[in-house]
Amino acid sequence: MGNQKKIVDRSKRSGPYADLGLVPAGKQSAEEQDVSRRNMLLGLGAVGVATMGGALGLVGFNNEARAAGTVPTGAAEHQWCRIIDLRACVGERKCVAACQTRHGLPPEQTWMRILSWQDEVGKEFFMPVPCQMCENPPCLNVCPVSATFRTPEGLVLTDQDTCIGSRACMAACPYEARYFNWNKPAETNRMPAPSPSTPEFPANQIGTVGKCVLCADRIPYANELPSCVEACPRAAQYIGDFVTDVAVNGRVTVKLSTFLRENNAVRFKEELGTNPRTYYILGNGQPLGGPMEGVK
Ligand code: SF4
Repeated sequence: MGNQKKIVDRSKRSGPYADLGLVPAGKQSAEEQDVSRRNMLLGLGAVGVATMGGALGLVGFNNEARAAGTVPTGAAEHQWCRIIDLRACVGERKCVAACQTRHGLPPEQTWMRILSWQDEVGKEFFMPVPCQMCENPPCLNVCPVSATFRTPEGLVLTDQDTCIGSRACMAACPYEARYFNWNKPAETNRMPAPSPSTPEFPANQIGTVGKCVLCADRIPYANELPSCVEACPRAAQYIGDFVTDVAVNGRVTVKLSTFLRENNAVRFKEELGTNPRTYYILGNGQPLGGPMEGVK
């Protein structure tokens, strides 16, 4: 009995994420956060999730905790992450289309999935879900031939020439971010210059597993953003670098740590210990004001 948590009156919260048990960490006590994590599945059932493959578990980004122990370190020049600002996302799926085109993906293989659900009054919400670039990736640990690896800059990639298609990584990924190439994929758009297949820009092969690579062949270069980031008409996606503490979306540049902290950024299924490097800012299609207002 001594370990029982106090029941929190969730009726006092407001907004759709409260119904999901998803209140930004800065607005919750530690006890409330613990209870709301356990309530997530119940909350999801109540609002009718349309396209999810698993529990929508988002928990808060705690800047102090990362500063104390898990801020990416090492000799690499960059430590990449992604930020998705759900306040700006209205589910246009331009990111999906750009990704499909660049990587020659068939319609059923979306390296960027868009989850959607409705609240109790029918308002629709969207959440893009690419590979979360986990710091502790379950997909990597189960590969029997070590085809999946993590770069010094924090990107999880797969060598298509080594992959034998065991699909163990697909079973292990809690984000359902991996896809098996059942059929011969379309030619990858490798223009303007033809280039060899690399883990950073793979030419998909039949019988292997593919997933989002965060356009790893592009992001070292400041003027080339991942195709999904570049394509979003509302500039909802950012690429961030923990080393320089900067995030960009092609329209604005922000101080990464401040942006995450001040907007109560959260991570998806963080409680699984995957330490994802994808951060979400909760919201739904609001005008953001300032330099982002009217972005098209
Ligand atoms: Fe691996 Fe899935 Fe994490 Fe991507 S999201 S790194 S595929 S476990």
